[in-house]
Amino acid sequence: MIAQICEESKCTGCLACMNLCPCGAITCQEREDGNVIPQIDPEKCIECHRCVQGCPENHVKEKHEPRQCYATWQKDRKERKYSASGGIAFGFYKRWIQNAGIVYGAAFNEKGILTQQKAETLEEARKFRGSKYVQSYNGFSYSEIGKELKKGKKVLFIGTPCQIAGLKAYLGKASDALVTIDLICHGTPPMSYLEEYIKEIAGAEKVDRVSFRGEKDYHMVFYSQDRVVYSQRFRKDLYYTAYLQGIIHRENCYKCEYADKRRISDLTIGDFWGIDRKSLKVPYKGKISVVLVNSEKGRKFWDLVKDEFIYEERSLEEAVKGNVPLQRPAALPKDRMKFIEVYKEKGFMSAVKTPGVQKAIEEAKVKDNLFYRILGKIKRRFR
Ligand SMILES: Cc1cc2nc3c(=O)[nH]c(=O)nc-3n(C[C@H](O)[C@H](O)[C@H](O)COP(=O)(O)OP(=O)(O)OC[C@H]3O[C@@H](n4cnc5c(N)ncnc54)[C@H](O)[C@@H]3O)c2cc1C
Repeated sequence: MIAQICEESKCTGCLACMNLCPCGAITCQEREDGNVIPQIDPEKCIECHRCVQGCPENHVKEKHEPRQCYATWQKDRKERKYSASGGIAFGFYKRWIQNAGIVYGAAFNEKGILTQQKAETLEEARKFRGSKYVQSYNGFSYSEIGKELKKGKKVLFIGTPCQIAGLKAYLGKASDALVTIDLICHGTPPMSYLEEYIKEIAGAEKVDRVSFRGEKDYHMVFYSQDRVVYSQRFRKDLYYTAYLQGIIHRENCYKCEYADKRRISDLTIGDFWGIDRKSLKVPYKGKISVVLVNSEKGRKFWDLVKDEFIYEERSLEEAVKGNVPLQRPAALPKDRMKFIEVYKEKGFMSAVKTPGVQKAIEEAKVKDNLFYRILGKIKRRFR
């Protein structure tokens, strides 16, 4: 019998194993700390070991030093508005769909759960816009993509680096028809935390979509059929602040092997934090994205899409300097253990309200008060 697919503390929940299993013996189980971990049903398992061999966490990661680094934003102002950063993901989707491809991204399903989904039209791809600070469930999207590629479809997949690693591990060999794009990612909390939080805040309202960035930037907004049922600025929202403090990530995020300037996808997108705006050739005050081109396929893709954007080449060092996940994984906060202990016994709301966790949250809120915000603005002006 197979005792373990991979070391549990390394499991990213990518579910390559579940997609690879030929007899449906692997299902997702929620651990008492809220993390979803794949489990093997010994009754169904035929001990083919595909799950163990195919798990990306059992292999050395194949990462590439980026070849080019761009500061960029989408030309279309209206589309930019709904995106977390420079609207790059949507620009990519647009061009790929116009070139007869299909695309994958993260969107809330009809039950309000974040999942990886397919889109074949631009209208459908709009649901992917904006960063969602929660883990997106991959389900059987990898095997679906495998089938699409076999049918001769061109596929664009945007997701977290661990999702890309899972997809590549599932497919085994590289396909010319697949382009992978990873997000610079500082961690994802389990969906169960957000579900409990929504229930607490929204009560009987049926929340089917949550927005963190984009349409109302840096606000936690709950929607029920496009009606706003809750809206709060990030530092005033308990879940958002706990997320930004790095207290509620999935366990393996604190040891993430993809938090590195060397990347596993064809391209990488993220925020170009800390860019020297004064040196931009085209003056711009809005949100700026970073695009890293990591492979030859990535370069060809960039050549296909770059007309959608204003862009200029910058040094990789400038992008790395302002972005922790391009250097190392999120630090494990000292109150993390307390959070998990209480979560196991009493759930999310009690865990984020424990004194240690609350202290960290209150400290973060202080940094966001009016005085510090004005001070920050003054500092940035004279930088
Ligand atoms: C959990 C998370 C943490 C992040 N942390 C950082 C960071 O530390 N530093 C940084 O520079 N950038 C980070 N980003 C990336 C950044 O917030 C933007 O998503 C990125 O710059 C793309 O912005 P955009 O305007 O081009 O696209 P947008 O229109 O904002 O599109 C976002 C894209 O991300 C995908 N996506 C959204 N949420 C998820 C999710 N939970 N799981 C998988 N895919 C998702 C969508 O499908 C879409 O393709 C993070 C994103 C997420 C989702």
